[in-house]
Amino acid sequence: MYWRKSTPKAEIIRLIKAGQITLGGNHGNAKTRVYGDLDKSKCSGGRSIAKTADGDPAKSNQVFFASEAEALRLGYRPCGTCRKDLHKERERDPEGWTRTRLALLER
Ligand SMILES: [Zn+2]
Repeated sequence: MYWRKSTPKAEIIRLIKAGQITLGGNHGNAKTRVYGDLDKSKCSGGRSIAKTADGDPAKSNQVFFASEAEALRLGYRPCGTCRKDLHKERERDPEGWTRTRLALLER
């Protein structure tokens, strides 16, 4: 996981182009940590690199992940907008869903 506040924008862009970053996230409290799409046309959740490019990165809670599995292992949950189906599935049984999803992603 990469933090926007401690990773230069050029490095984040390089990692995205290299396929080493595929998802963005917002690091809130334990219940509001969300991962979602980097493409701002698919999600307005503020995970696009463009979102904070002109703001103050030092205050950003934006993070980036190599994969969905990484985001899940670190306790993030799917975005209710761009990952709506996953978000709904998870609501029924967060712990069970996360275990099952990780097993599927990592097999
Ligand atoms: Zn989203």
